[in-house]
Amino acid sequence: MSKSAVITPFGASTIGSVKVPGSKSHTNRALLCAALAQGTSRLSGVLFADDTEAMLDAIRTLGAEVEENRRELTLEITGLGGSPRLDKSTIDCRSSGTTSRFILPVLASGHGAATLDGSEQLRSRPFAEQIAALRSLGCTLQETQMPGELPIEIQADGLAGGEIEVTTDTSSQFVSGLLMAAPLCDKGLTLRLLGTPVSRPYIDMTIEVMRKFGVDVKKLDDSTYVVPPSRYRATVLGVEPDATAASYFFGAAVITQGKVRVDGLDKRSIQGDIQFVSVLDELGAKVTWGDGYIEVEGDHISGGSFDLQDFSDTAQTLAAVAAFADSDLEISGIGFIRAKETDRLAAMTAELTKCGVEITEKPDGLLIRPNKWLLRGATINTYDDHRMAMSMSLLGLRVPRIEILDPDCVNKTFPEFFDCLEGLRPRAQERSDIAAVIAIDGPAGSGKSTVARQLAAELGLPHFDTGAMYRAVAVAALRAGVDIEDADAITKLAKETNIEIQERIVIDGVDATEEIRTPEANQMVSVVAANPQVRRVLVPQQREWATDLGGGVMEGRDIGTEVFPDALFKVFLTADLSIRAERRFNESSEQTMGSVLDDLKRRDQVDSTREDSPLLVAPGAVIFDSSGLSIEDVVSDLATIFRGLVAG
Ligand code: C5P
Repeated sequence: MSKSAVITPFGASTIGSVKVPGSKSHTNRALLCAALAQGTSRLSGVLFADDTEAMLDAIRTLGAEVEENRRELTLEITGLGGSPRLDKSTIDCRSSGTTSRFILPVLASGHGAATLDGSEQLRSRPFAEQIAALRSLGCTLQETQMPGELPIEIQADGLAGGEIEVTTDTSSQFVSGLLMAAPLCDKGLTLRLLGTPVSRPYIDMTIEVMRKFGVDVKKLDDSTYVVPPSRYRATVLGVEPDATAASYFFGAAVITQGKVRVDGLDKRSIQGDIQFVSVLDELGAKVTWGDGYIEVEGDHISGGSFDLQDFSDTAQTLAAVAAFADSDLEISGIGFIRAKETDRLAAMTAELTKCGVEITEKPDGLLIRPNKWLLRGATINTYDDHRMAMSMSLLGLRVPRIEILDPDCVNKTFPEFFDCLEGLRPRAQERSDIAAVIAIDGPAGSGKSTVARQLAAELGLPHFDTGAMYRAVAVAALRAGVDIEDADAITKLAKETNIEIQERIVIDGVDATEEIRTPEANQMVSVVAANPQVRRVLVPQQREWATDLGGGVMEGRDIGTEVFPDALFKVFLTADLSIRAERRFNESSEQTMGSVLDDLKRRDQVDSTREDSPLLVAPGAVIFDSSGLSIEDVVSDLATIFRGLVAG
C-alpha cells in the first residue's frame, strides 16, 4: 500500500490511445444475470477490480459456479437456474454500491436467512428506499445497526411480486436491483418510479443486459416498468470498456491540449457516461465518434452550464477539466452525489480550492471560476473515493506537486489507472515536429530568469533571456532620448541597435547588464514590447538563436505561444503577486514596496492584454506556482519533467 503518489506533469500535449478496462456497471449486471441464469454464460472484457470481486464473491455464495481466466479477462459462469442459496450466509459487499443494491432484492427472492454487509463506507450509504420497496413486497428485513443502513438481516420466503413504488432520487441502483430480481417473483413485478430517477441511463443498461439474458422488461411509460415472471438464459456477452474510466483520458486530452483515442467505445455504447464526450464537444474540444473508438482532441475550452443528472460519475472529471477552462463552468443536477463513496460535492470543492481553483459548492452542483495563473500543487485527500483520486490526478498533468493520498483507492474500479495515465506521457523522440526548446513564460517576478538559467546549467543547455532584448531596446531609447510612444523611431532602434546577450548584456559595445534593470527601463519596457513592429524585428532573431544553437532554454512572455509554439517542453512560471513584489523589492533598493507592487500590476496588465502576443499560458504548458518554493525545488522538478519527456 503506497501512502501517496505525486503526479509528474507531462510538460507537453499528449497524443496517444488507451485501452480502458471493462465497465464496472456492465460487468456487475452481467455477473448477476449469469448467476441467476440456466446454463453456462461466457463473459469477455470483464473488469477485475474491488467492486466486481465483491459481486463475484456474492454470486459464488449464492451458488453460482465461476471459472476465471484473469489474463484473458474472461469468465464462465454456470448459473443457479432458480432460487439463490441463502444458508444463513453473510455477504460482504466491500464498498460496492452496485453489488449491495443488486444482491439485496435477489436475497429477498430466495428462501432462508442471510445477512448483507459491507465496509464502513458502504454502511454509511443509503438503502432505505430499497428496504421500503422490499418490505412492501412482504419480505422481512432487519437493519441491525442504523435504520436504512447495512448490515441488514433478511428472512426470505420467496417473493410473490405484484406492484410496488420506489423512490428514485437517491440512486438508480435501487431500481436496477429490483428489476433484476423481478423475473424471480411468482407473479412478476410492476415497478412505479416516484420522482424523476437520477442516472436513468443505468436503468436502461440494466434492461439491456436483462434482455441479453432472455428477460424482457416492458416500459409502459417513463415511470412504469413491468417484468413478467420469466427465466434468465445463459448467453455470450462482451463487456464494454468503462465509459467513466474513459472520461479521465478524454479529460487528459483536453487538459494537456493533446489528442487521445479510446478503443471499444462508440455511439452504440449502452453506458450513459459517454455523454461526457458531448460535454467536451460543447466546451470546444474536437470529438471524433469513430466506428469502435472515440477520439477527443483538446483545444482552448470555454465554460458553460451542464446538467449531469444522467451521467453524474463524470462530474468530478468535468470539475477537474473546468480548472483549465477560459470561462466559468457550472455543473447542476447532481445533489445526489453527496451520498456516493463520499460527499463528492464537498470533497471536490475542498480539494480544488487547495489547488487554487475558485469553486463554489451549490446544493445540487458546483460552480467553477477558473484562472490558470492561480493553479498550484497540493496534497489531495481522496476520501476513499476512487473518482476523487482519478479526477484530481488530471490536474497533476499540468500542475507540479499534485500529491494524491491513498492512491490505491483506485482499485475499486480501475487498478491500472496510474499505469494507463503514465502510458500517455508524451515522448520527444516520437515526434519529428518539435523544436528542441524549453519555453519558459511567466509574469515579472515569477522567478523565470533564475530558474531558466539554473535549469539550463543543470541540463547543459544554452540559455536565452528574450526579456533582455526588449529591455535593451528600451535602454537604447533612453540613451538616445527617443520617445517610447514613437513606434516608428523605436522600431528603427530595434533594427539598428547591436544587442549582445550572453553572460553580460552589451548594447552597441557598452555594457548594459545593470542598466537594463533600472526602474526607468522597467517603466518603459512593456510599452516597447507591446509595439508589434518591434516584435517583428526581435522574434525572428530569437528563433534564429535557438536554431543556430540546436535548442536551449528560452524565457520570455510568448515563447510557448508565438516564438516556439512547437517547443519540446513548455512552462508557465507564476507566483502570488505579493511574493513577486517582495522578490523584486529585495532585488532593488531604489523603489518602495508600494511602487514595486504598482509597477508589477501595470506590467501584468499590459503584458497579458496587449493585442500582439499577450502573455498567456501556452497550450499544454506546465503551470508552476513557485510561491512557497526554493529555486532549487523548481529547477529540480522541471529537470525531472524534462527528463521524462526525452527518456527512451
Ligand atoms: O522578463 P523580463 O521582465 O525581463 O521582460 C521585460 C518585459 O519584456 C516584459 O514585461 C514584457 O513586456 C517584455 N517581453 C515580451 N516578450 C518576451 C519577453 C519579454 O514582451 N518574450
